[in-house]
Amino acid sequence: MSPRNAPRRYRYRPGPRGRGSSNRRRQRRGPNTRSDQSASLAATAVGPPAGGDIEIPSKITVQNLANLLQVSPSRVITALIMSGVLATINQTVSYEESAPVAEELGFTPKLQEEPSEELTVSPTERAADQEPSRMIDRPPAVTILGHVDHGKTSLLDRIRRTNVMEGEAGGITQHIGAYQVESDGRKITFLDTPGHEAFTAMRARGAMATDIAVLVVAADDGVQAQTLEAIDHARAAQVPIVVAINKIDRRDANPDIVKQQLAEAGLVVEDYGGDIVSAQVSAMTGTGVDELLEMILLVADLSELQADPTGYAYGTVIEAKVDRARGVAATLLVQSGTLNVGDTVSVGASVGRVRAMFDDRGKRIKSAGPSTPVEILGISEQPIPGDKFQAFADEKSARASTAQLASKSATSADTADAMSLSEFSAQTGAQGVRDLNVVLKTDVQGSLEPIQSSITDVSTDDVRVRVIRASAGAIVEPDVLLAKASNAMIVGFRTSVEPGANNAAELNRVEIRLYDVIYRIIEDLQAAAEGLIEPVSREVIDGHVEVRQLFRVGRTRTVAGCFVTDGLVLRSCGIRVFRDRKKVFEGKLASLKRFKDDVRRVEAGYECGIAIEGYNDILEGDIFEVFHNETGSGSVDESARV
Ligand code: GDP
Repeated sequence: MSPRNAPRRYRYRPGPRGRGSSNRRRQRRGPNTRSDQSASLAATAVGPPAGGDIEIPSKITVQNLANLLQVSPSRVITALIMSGVLATINQTVSYEESAPVAEELGFTPKLQEEPSEELTVSPTERAADQEPSRMIDRPPAVTILGHVDHGKTSLLDRIRRTNVMEGEAGGITQHIGAYQVESDGRKITFLDTPGHEAFTAMRARGAMATDIAVLVVAADDGVQAQTLEAIDHARAAQVPIVVAINKIDRRDANPDIVKQQLAEAGLVVEDYGGDIVSAQVSAMTGTGVDELLEMILLVADLSELQADPTGYAYGTVIEAKVDRARGVAATLLVQSGTLNVGDTVSVGASVGRVRAMFDDRGKRIKSAGPSTPVEILGISEQPIPGDKFQAFADEKSARASTAQLASKSATSADTADAMSLSEFSAQTGAQGVRDLNVVLKTDVQGSLEPIQSSITDVSTDDVRVRVIRASAGAIVEPDVLLAKASNAMIVGFRTSVEPGANNAAELNRVEIRLYDVIYRIIEDLQAAAEGLIEPVSREVIDGHVEVRQLFRVGRTRTVAGCFVTDGLVLRSCGIRVFRDRKKVFEGKLASLKRFKDDVRRVEAGYECGIAIEGYNDILEGDIFEVFHNETGSGSVDESARV
């Protein structure tokens, strides 16, 4: 288990009512010897009565253990605490830790044998050893990316409106999160959530549902910040790009400038001598949309997309909603096999039977083959986009596999944590050339180029340092998701971390390292490449405050009247002053007051007075970031500003 996932252990102290460990050991011998306390725990059970033999994998998340035991996660957490293990819902516990919980709940636990290949192969693994004779061409699944307002939604609507399948024109098109159209007698599946955020969020969950990315660039506006972001995201996912130069109907449309700008960003279209196919379209009038679909099919042909339509279906959850009348409705993209009404499916963490299945026009269907988006009813828990699904012969194997896949995904590369520098360093000696992926953010555009090339130069024979995204500005949530999806770390140079990004980094265990000097970045990466890096001091960002008023104290001292916007401020913390998103000072907090009183902490939503040691040039509107340092390794967010 990675130390990052490890639950925290603490020494159990017997309480006044003799809840000692010896007492608990007695409790585990069997239901008859349970203490009053465990009896009362059982009495508060939710769900069906517990009991019987149960197989538990060697590693399992608290959430999945709760599913397996059919109790609420909080009951599992409580039971774990009782045996001295402190774990949160997403953390993984070992069999040794989970077995007592199962006993506590009246089960007889047994260690599950290692997952059999048949039950746990991932879609990619399965595709690799499929019988070639059964493979057929399958339609491409396409995602539309691009800058805001460049016409992604309009294009999706236009394609949907004009290319509904033959005989069904005018039929009601349901919004289920994906739809299929026909061009030249061939099908194309479009995922209906445009933008790289959804695309990368799904990838960060280990799902790869997109075969081709259509990059929409408005001909009157050219390549913009999110166009560049989208290119990085598609490249990091190694998904081929088709360019759609949109709004060609506009008078000020200038496709040539767009092509030049794309070339500068490394995407050289065919008529400029490159290999990127492009089409000029108008989502408004429909011009060029057919050519775009042809281009998509051309690229699909080059990718040789195939799947085996026989056997049990598997694929990815695209969308899910709960409605009162129908319960959970999940849109699934079948990626291999054929899904049938009546099939038992594991979807995310739950198991159910496909009670009814609908296509993207709301029509009831009985079966769906590869690349078909369908909406199914019959599962009880709402899955998350990016969750995987798989069909099984019966419920028993579905349940076993759900638990196995969950335990596997807690450690597998499919949903692996983004790599921290010390973890990368610790792996030195592993075979083959390894990639150290970096998302680079700098304060200003001018710093990008020199830092990017110095970082890339760190590459050795064994380690290739790859900058998968380089841009100026604060570190934001999409950066974190990209890093998570690409197994990368984030290097920030004289920049800040937006609160949302910080939370996302913690949640996704992405490492963010902040630097003020270039050579320290290089030093750290070199050390990591050579396997020499020491555990770092971990910086914890406690919160942010906004300066709303200034008070002069004496002749020179300034006290800032602040509002804590997130987290909390501690009396003994470090503090950074940001003005217009740029850091202008870093130092220590000198005093923290609520009204006239010195206080130790002030939480989000409250006002306070802050003075900074040796710094009085505070302005209204400044943002303070407050932090403290902890030492240790394997931390969740090892932000270290050096
Ligand atoms: P998105 O943010 O990329 O999804 O962009 P939208 O599809 O919402 O489009 C943004 C705006 O551009 C809307 O006002 C659309 O009507 C307009 N628009 C989209 N495509 C075209 C087009 O081909 N021609 C013109 N003239 N306007 C378009």
